[in-house]
Amino acid sequence: MKLINTMEYSLETASLHADDHLSQISDVATPIHVSTTFEYPSDPDALIPAKDRDISNLPTGEIIYSRFSTPVVERVETVLGSVFGQGTYAVLYGSGLAAFTAALAHYNPNKLAMRDGYHGCHGVARVFGRLSGLEQVDIDSEIGSGDLLHLESPINPTGLSSDIRHYADRAHDMGAKMMIDATFGPPPLQDPFEFGVDMIMHSGTKYLGGHSDLLAGILVTKDPEVRKQLLADRAMLGTGIGNMEAWLLLRSLRTLKMRVMTQSSNVEKVVKWLNESKSRLPGLKTVYHSSLQTEDFVKKQLKNGYGATFAIEVDSAAIARALPSKLKLFHHATSLGGVESLVEWRAMTDKTISECILRFSIGVEDADDLIADIESAFTKS
Ligand SMILES: *Cc1c(COP(=O)(O)O)cnc(C)c1O
Repeated sequence: MKLINTMEYSLETASLHADDHLSQISDVATPIHVSTTFEYPSDPDALIPAKDRDISNLPTGEIIYSRFSTPVVERVETVLGSVFGQGTYAVLYGSGLAAFTAALAHYNPNKLAMRDGYHGCHGVARVFGRLSGLEQVDIDSEIGSGDLLHLESPINPTGLSSDIRHYADRAHDMGAKMMIDATFGPPPLQDPFEFGVDMIMHSGTKYLGGHSDLLAGILVTKDPEVRKQLLADRAMLGTGIGNMEAWLLLRSLRTLKMRVMTQSSNVEKVVKWLNESKSRLPGLKTVYHSSLQTEDFVKKQLKNGYGATFAIEVDSAAIARALPSKLKLFHHATSLGGVESLVEWRAMTDKTISECILRFSIGVEDADDLIADIESAFTKS
């Protein structure tokens, strides 16, 4: 297949064809490569020893050892590079937290400014606190040159948005870098680069994977030098992804836009209905979601639709504990972003959260079926 100029095509076309030129055989469905090691060139004159080049950072298409890269990892990164837009480079990791670890190792800040959000990212920061003395400070604190501001938007578990441009400008004014965990706002809903961020992180386990069957993490940069350093670090830290997971992710990316857009239109209907039905649903106190926010920046950031995760607060821990078992179409489980809807009593995984919070991840089922299920869980005992 020919190398296509992916910039001529929209996201849904690029998701299917951006990596066509990397196919080495005639298979239409990409094969899984399980090999850890790959033959060197057969021409002796083509052999370039390691002292003359960086073997952990080879040009696309030159594969040596699977800790450095693999044929499928290169295809996933090529597809993601076009999904995230012109001039972006994606680097793939074994999990979202491996990607966050890689970002901290890369920027190596003295201070990390962040607030709330995914509890695991705070856990990674604590490990760095032990290793390098990294100091975690509130997102509105003063930080300095070489430090890092980390924003999560939309944020876990509520799905509420923060002003990305405000935090990017603030970080840059202080000489710091700004990264965003954009897991809750996958492409094509939100493009954080438009608002000045230096790096985007995703847990690929969620919307990009979309089927609750793989762990993956992604860092996206517009700086080719940063990409090179990330790839070299990944080869040394061993934070890369396995063959099977990379292959599942590539397969998932083929349907990214249709899944995410269906989930997004579903969540808008479910949240609107819930919010308007509050007085009729016994025990329901508050509904949290970006779609209920009124600030101007929210619609500018989530320009193509809202992320499909939101939270509700109910009147008591007893109601929150009992509701998941009354739902028929929602698995009571952690995680989010998959095609199947999930609900979680958040106290099961987050030690710091109120016991009255339930988090919903909306899938690709029919929105009216999901609404009827929630209504009956609230109203029938
Ligand atoms: C799940 C998640 C992570 C961690 O990703 P893993 O793939 O589980 O390591 C980080 N940030 C957010 C917002 C998440 O939802």
